[in-house]
Amino acid sequence: MINPSVAYQNSDVIVVGAGAAGLFGAIACAEAAVANSLPLRIHILEAGREPLTKVRISGGGRCNVTHACFDAAVLVNQYPRGNKALRGPFSRFQPQDTVAWFEQRGVRLKLRPMAACSQQPTIRAR
Ligand SMILES: Cc1cc2nc3c(=O)[nH]c(=O)nc-3n(C[C@H](O)[C@H](O)[C@H](O)COP(=O)(O)OP(=O)(O)OC[C@H]3O[C@@H](n4cnc5c(N)ncnc54)[C@H](O)[C@@H]3O)c2cc1C
Repeated sequence: MINPSVAYQNSDVIVVGAGAAGLFGAIACAEAAVANSLPLRIHILEAGREPLTKVRISGGGRCNVTHACFDAAVLVNQYPRGNKALRGPFSRFQPQDTVAWFEQRGVRLKLRPMAACSQQPTIRAR
């Protein structure tokens, strides 16, 4: 494990937390750097023993990756307390982009109905 002060001195980007958000952000930074031929030093600091601990247990081990609703205007209605705030982010990156992101990296996803609820079906990694 790298010492945080060493990472601070030798990094252009430090990501704190190797969870879903941190690793997604780190990958996005790395890919942007490669696309622009920029040497970018990225360190990911994780306090736990392993990365992605929560992702591993999510969806009861099957990992619900995203919704299967690809219309952002419809999808925001699934978030009654956040529908206005999510309109902007979903107009830039929504479940269809998530599916494409994984599939471009060779991860095949499966469409599964949600059990006994009114939500959209979800797309799972297993
Ligand atoms: C039982 C369960 C089932 C779930 N099922 C689903 C599901 O089916 N589908 C779904 O989309 N979501 C599901 N979730 C929610 C999903 O796991 C979270 O939304 C997701 O993990 C959040 O990602 P994150 O990167 O924001 O945070 P986290 O996954 O919590 O990652 C944060 C990381 O940062 C590390 N960290 C924290 N503080 C520090 C620090 N100071 N220094 C270094 N590292 C630090 C933590 O150890 C952790 O690894 C589930 C959650 C649980 C608990």
